[in-house]
Amino acid sequence: MSFRLNYNGCKTYGCRNCGNPNQDLYQFSKRLGYPAWHCDLCGAYPPMLLNEPILALAKQLQQQQFPLYPSKRCDCESPSWLRYGHTPTGSQRIQCQCCMQVYTLPNPTQLAKRLQPWLDALMTGITPEKLQSHLGLTNKIFNQHLQKLSQLLNQYSRSVEQKLLSQTMTLNWHSFTYRQTCRSGLSASTKQHHATQLWTLCTLDSQTGYVYLISDNAWLNNQGNASSPANWQADAQYQAKTEEPSLSHDPDVLNRAEQTYQKILARSQFDQIAYCKPQHGQLKLDKHTPNALLRPVYAAHAHMQNLYQHLPKQVTLNWLLEHESFIRGAAITSFCASVNSGTTALYYYHYALNSQQTESANQQRTLSWWNEKWYKLFVNDKQAAYQVGLGVLTSQADKSPEQLKPLLPSQINVAERFFQPFKLWLPDSYASKLSATRVQQWQTIYRYLHNYLLVHTPRVTSSLASSAHSVSSMVAQLNNDTITHSKKG
Ligand SMILES: [Zn+2]
Ligand SMILES: [Zn+2]
Repeated sequence: MSFRLNYNGCKTYGCRNCGNPNQDLYQFSKRLGYPAWHCDLCGAYPPMLLNEPILALAKQLQQQQFPLYPSKRCDCESPSWLRYGHTPTGSQRIQCQCCMQVYTLPNPTQLAKRLQPWLDALMTGITPEKLQSHLGLTNKIFNQHLQKLSQLLNQYSRSVEQKLLSQTMTLNWHSFTYRQTCRSGLSASTKQHHATQLWTLCTLDSQTGYVYLISDNAWLNNQGNASSPANWQADAQYQAKTEEPSLSHDPDVLNRAEQTYQKILARSQFDQIAYCKPQHGQLKLDKHTPNALLRPVYAAHAHMQNLYQHLPKQVTLNWLLEHESFIRGAAITSFCASVNSGTTALYYYHYALNSQQTESANQQRTLSWWNEKWYKLFVNDKQAAYQVGLGVLTSQADKSPEQLKPLLPSQINVAERFFQPFKLWLPDSYASKLSATRVQQWQTIYRYLHNYLLVHTPRVTSSLASSAHSVSSMVAQLNNDTITHSKKG
């Protein structure tokens, strides 16, 4: 399936134009001081977006996070493989029935010899920083194996996910952001030698904590034509500005929501976030790339496009979003069909510890220029007492606490429970020495450990995950799927 081509257009829930990319429906306007496509029907001025950077990031993310198996293969859209003998070392060969090219499937025993010690060491608590000396590998071999392992773990976990999702009827997601440190690439001799912070968006299952997708705003896929940067690059870059105040710490969640709206409205345009200090807002890859960081709004759309591609259409989705207008805009653009049909419901989510344990009545308020309905709920999970603020984004009907409480994560702070241990595992002090690519590989490996191995039982209840601890079983299972899913000759 290919990605949506045009991301401009109305993003207002309930408007007949919502999600419709037809440019004839909109008027170009600079009335609010920024270029926008005005929707006559609902009066909104969604900021104009460049489509190219979204598509470039979406494709880069697809290649990194949803790698095909086997990775060395023809470009045929849906190749049909047949067994084609073995190599002298006993690896299975396969032939594509469309183009007749022959490939060799990874050998489970050989790959396990290289990569099983990695998994074993990581499971006993060896951290990335200590792993190379623990395994006794040279830089070159270490880097090669790291790349291979992160690719294999993605291939295996995506195959488990696809099988499970095809049988799933209801899902609860939560999407949130954090900042990920990596090496800036700026020369150490200049004063600007600060680490970069990547704007990172993560989506997980709010009931099980299973992490589906982590992505960021680094555009790295330009090695092929480094001499000529893409013509959209200059316009799509992140412009480092004075950092915005961080999330409000007001003890009342509805006050937090109100202050977040004010922060968004105070920007030159809603999607012009300033997410880090200016000195952390630059990533340099080569002399042709002034800044490889793109505007977070483009990264958000790329993230949602990849999620949309992998979610079967039958699934009813309840989705708690971090309170950020362009994350909502990206979600409603990608999922407009299921939002309009009512199978996808979007909410904004705030929470705060209810430290005084004051249980006042649940409340309802309408907030913001967008007139969004918010609810304050008091809930306890296993750890603590919380206030939760839920903004209902895709329904006009009044909700009762009984209807809303089942939508909440089983652990209210499910996001922190993922990224805080991750930050201990890959501390900023170490990550600041690593390239963005290397950091993404470690992130991929941690996603896998968190989902399958650092828990009593995998976060998916499926016998499919029974190979999760064994490299040779993973490869055997992937090889088996490749052949059995192909047409028999
Ligand atoms: Zn509209
Ligand atoms: Zn082929």
